Amino acid sequence: MRRWFATAVQRQGAEVCRTIWAVAIQTQAGDYDAVVIGAGFAGLYMVYRLREAGFRVRGLEAGSGVGGTWYWNRYPGARCDSESMYYSYSFLPEFEQEWPLEQRYPTQPVILRYLQTVAGRLDLLKDFTFGSRVDSVRFDDGARRWTVRAGDGLTVTARYVVTATGALSAASRPRFEGAEDFAGQQYSTASWPHEPVPLAGRRVGLIGTGSSGVQVLPELARQAESVTVFQRTAQFVTPARQERLDPRMVELWKANYQEIRRRTKITPGGIPIPSPIRSALEMPAAERTALCEEAWRRGGIWFLDGTFSDAVTSPEVNAIVADFVRSKIGEIIDDPVVAEKLKPRTHAWGTKRVPVGSDYYETYNRPNVSLVDLRADPIERITPAGIRTRSAEHPLDVIVYATGFDALTGSLERLGVIGRDGVRLQDAWAGGPRTYLGLMVPGFPNLFTITGPGSPGVVTNVPVAIEQHVEWIAEFLSYLREHGHDGAEAAPDAADQWTAHVREVADTTLYPTADSWYMGANIPGKPRVFLPYIGGLGVYRRRCDEIAAGGYPGFVLGSSVVAQEAAHGAG
Ligand SMILES: Cc1cc2nc3c(=O)[nH]c(=O)nc-3n(C[C@H](O)[C@H](O)[C@H](O)COP(=O)(O)OP(=O)(O)OC[C@H]3O[C@@H](n4cnc5c(N)ncnc54)[C@H](O)[C@@H]3O)c2cc1C
Repeated sequence: MRRWFATAVQRQGAEVCRTIWAVAIQTQAGDYDAVVIGAGFAGLYMVYRLREAGFRVRGLEAGSGVGGTWYWNRYPGARCDSESMYYSYSFLPEFEQEWPLEQRYPTQPVILRYLQTVAGRLDLLKDFTFGSRVDSVRFDDGARRWTVRAGDGLTVTARYVVTATGALSAASRPRFEGAEDFAGQQYSTASWPHEPVPLAGRRVGLIGTGSSGVQVLPELARQAESVTVFQRTAQFVTPARQERLDPRMVELWKANYQEIRRRTKITPGGIPIPSPIRSALEMPAAERTALCEEAWRRGGIWFLDGTFSDAVTSPEVNAIVADFVRSKIGEIIDDPVVAEKLKPRTHAWGTKRVPVGSDYYETYNRPNVSLVDLRADPIERITPAGIRTRSAEHPLDVIVYATGFDALTGSLERLGVIGRDGVRLQDAWAGGPRTYLGLMVPGFPNLFTITGPGSPGVVTNVPVAIEQHVEWIAEFLSYLREHGHDGAEAAPDAADQWTAHVREVADTTLYPTADSWYMGANIPGKPRVFLPYIGGLGVYRRRCDEIAAGGYPGFVLGSSVVAQEAAHGAG
């Protein structure tokens, strides 16, 4: 809305526009059954489901349009690692037949266009206020309603709040001394300008080699005069093998969409590829290598999830996969010194999100690309002319930050949520998040989180998890309405048990051994807790369905019971 306002002021004069703005804000202010925050995959579907179920619902979105991740992350090379076939909604069977599937992985412009088209088709834009960044979400104990305020002055009240703020939307940009004095341009991949960024003839510094850094590097190298990559952690990058899809394949998929979707919903990761059932330790060495080679040749998910049953649970098997990837890096990279720096040795394979790259390693063979290993040569400061590391000054015109996100909890904590008895969400989660099913938090009645901590969201093909959450929440709200309850809250015991279960499942794997964003390790001071649920989406769905069928055990329904239970701290 702000951007629209600025343009309108230029065209029509400030006075007229201020009046229009005030009227617009007043029109959208008011009391609703539910407020949904965010207009990505989750927020769009949540608003649609609630609206169709007869709830008065309002969506609020910080950006000036729909798309979420795909609205903000417009950097060159941005695309999805989930394959086109699976990275979409399943609830629009006619639309999925029409939507063209052209490349193996959908690029950012394609996904943004997809979500814009869905929003238009379902007439969702009228239900959202854009340019509204929520900074206060406060529960009124007496009225049992939430008051939601946004930075643009909009205030709404609602019985229910659903956060669809994204598990990977709160960007993290480390503070480097001197950054404000840099004479060139600085960009974050997570909030890339809408207009093309001129890179030709520029010397670019890229900080960060996670998924976004891996995607952007080859494009920067193609366009810029030079690129210097500042790498803190070498990654196990899997080749994407992006390609145009064979139209006959697409036709076959479309003919079988319903069955594929059905199977997808019960898979562990939201993609219906066969899970490996054999350990590497059961195979002769030659067979293991052949299997890894074949998975590497197919790329993407086939290497990520398609090798051995115990690749992220057995240290011995993990080492086999890690050695295989390091050997591939050695084969691809011309300069052995560069290859050595690129070989990951600080974490087990798969325990940090594995980037899926196109020409990532190959790009280091270009004469205009150089690599700085920050573990050996850390950044001391940013100067007006570039980046100074311990051993050298690197002159630059542009700095690109691909420095990740305060994952899962960041976007929730930035909402300024204050629950029952004036308790801040940050304080409730000071020792790590505590949720029931990743959907509700004790002490925060009628507040639902989509893909928050304790949810399988980020370890799946996310739209599949989002659809499950949205449908479950919509059915729960309808149930509460039908049974005359004015709300629900997670019981403390149920949340404790779920949170312990999330941790126990993680502890059966190697995931907690890595300094990853799954563990909150990329954010200074963040409690070190494994955040998502990795027991599998299919298992999680079954658990949620059983709970719904059983009348929602673990949730305290209705206001009087909430107060009583809360007073006794009971579950
Ligand atoms: C670069 C990148 C690549 C990815 N690749 C994949 C992939 O290959 N496969 C996959 O499954 N997932 C991938 N993801 C995860 C991706 O985030 C999800 O697939 C999906 O887009 C999440 O949708 P969402 O609606 O939950 O959240 P988002 O798309 O993040 O949308 C959240 C929205 O909430 C808004 N918001 C946040 N806080 C506020 C506030 N305070 N006030 C108002 N609005 C607010 C944001 O502006 C944003 O528009 C990727 C993420 C990134 C960043």
